[in-house]
Amino acid sequence: MGSKEDEIFRIVEEKNVRFVRLQFVDVQGIPKNVAIPVGQLEKALGPGIHFDGSSIEGFVRIEESDMVLRPDPDTFRVLPWSGNEGTAEARLICDIELPDGKPFMGCPRQVLKKNMEEAAKLGYVMNTGPEMEFFLFKRQDGMPTNIPQDRGGYFDLAPIDLAEEIKREIVLVLEEMGFEVEAAHHEVAFGQHEIDFKYDNALATADNVITLKYVAKTLALQHGLHATFMPKPIFGVNGSGMHTNTSLFKDGKNAFYDPDAPDQISDTLRYFVGGVLKHIRAITAITNPLVNSYKRLVPGYEAPVYITWSGPNRSSLIRVPAPRGNSTRIEIRSPDPSCNPYLAFAAILAAGLDGVKNKIEPPERVEKNIYKLTEEEREKLGIGMLPGTLKEAIECFKEDELLVSALGEHVSQSIINVAMADWDSYRTQVHQWELDRYLQTY
Ligand code: GLN
Ligand code: MG
Ligand code: MG
Ligand code: MG
Repeated sequence: MGSKEDEIFRIVEEKNVRFVRLQFVDVQGIPKNVAIPVGQLEKALGPGIHFDGSSIEGFVRIEESDMVLRPDPDTFRVLPWSGNEGTAEARLICDIELPDGKPFMGCPRQVLKKNMEEAAKLGYVMNTGPEMEFFLFKRQDGMPTNIPQDRGGYFDLAPIDLAEEIKREIVLVLEEMGFEVEAAHHEVAFGQHEIDFKYDNALATADNVITLKYVAKTLALQHGLHATFMPKPIFGVNGSGMHTNTSLFKDGKNAFYDPDAPDQISDTLRYFVGGVLKHIRAITAITNPLVNSYKRLVPGYEAPVYITWSGPNRSSLIRVPAPRGNSTRIEIRSPDPSCNPYLAFAAILAAGLDGVKNKIEPPERVEKNIYKLTEEEREKLGIGMLPGTLKEAIECFKEDELLVSALGEHVSQSIINVAMADWDSYRTQVHQWELDRYLQTY
């Protein structure tokens, strides 16, 4: 075993780790785990742990359910809140393999790794830095409500922001787990918050997104609250986004920065935007995977609706924030935090690389407030719209051969199946809105 494994066993000894959670996510990005007593750790890091994948959403059929958990030693972390007096629990994030050692392509982490390998062939690493928005709600009789825990607004302080203490705890725990947290602040809506952490390569960031959600949910529960990353939990106020700051690096340098180009925006950045915008309607099925996601993507709540890019203008779907040099990046504002981050980053990367490889010119930048343009003006400028429903997004996804092949047959089919089952169940419901609107009149 290598030095990484030695380091793991050293920490296990030092912290008296008794259990290790072997984590992975299903196709919807829901974390799963198998806990092993520490005596099994050597086996887990060696031959791997076999498990039955047939009950995991989007994995396999009963006949071919035997799978292997392959822990990534870089992801070993002690869970700061765990254990009893003097003992601890740790976690390792795993890739899923088939019994013959081949990657299992129903595993979202494997799908992202495959797309990152494609990028590496061209010399690129994609870095991402998401802005994670979420709500803290009260619980009643132990069950989550959508009643905000406070009445604070953007950047408010205590005592209006009642969540300062719990946010501080979340940030401290994240730091103990190796995060470099850059900011934590109250967001616009009552009970809404945002935590931003430093960018990293897309794989490490996707792992971090899953960890952040897990930490926020765990600590909220300890305070008798519920942390939710549901995109639009309350009608009439801002929803929660996961703005994704994205850049390509080559040979350790930011390939989106060109000191000699207009606005110091490189051709690579422009083509990447061209690719993402070309495929954005299909990407939306991945970055906005819930029926509820489309309740957020409406005018009036700082979420994008129209397919445009711009400089620092915030009404755009993609904007180029002001910092340059190694901080040059695009901010993609459509994703929401209910997405599976491995698949969302894989989809963005595949689309962006399509742009870079094929030199896809994006449309003109739009520097005006897009919401103030009339429909005619938008039409003249050729500005398209994001899908209005999950159904529409899935239709776009099905037709996008590049994305389907980037995510692979297995994951693509699971995404379509899960989404269409949800859509059918949703569309056949009778909603309160219909009763309020029709019951008396008709
Ligand atoms: N909550 C908004 C969204 O849905 C973003 C608000 C902001 O960060 N300025 O994307
Ligand atoms: Mg932000
Ligand atoms: Mg924000
Ligand atoms: Mg932002």
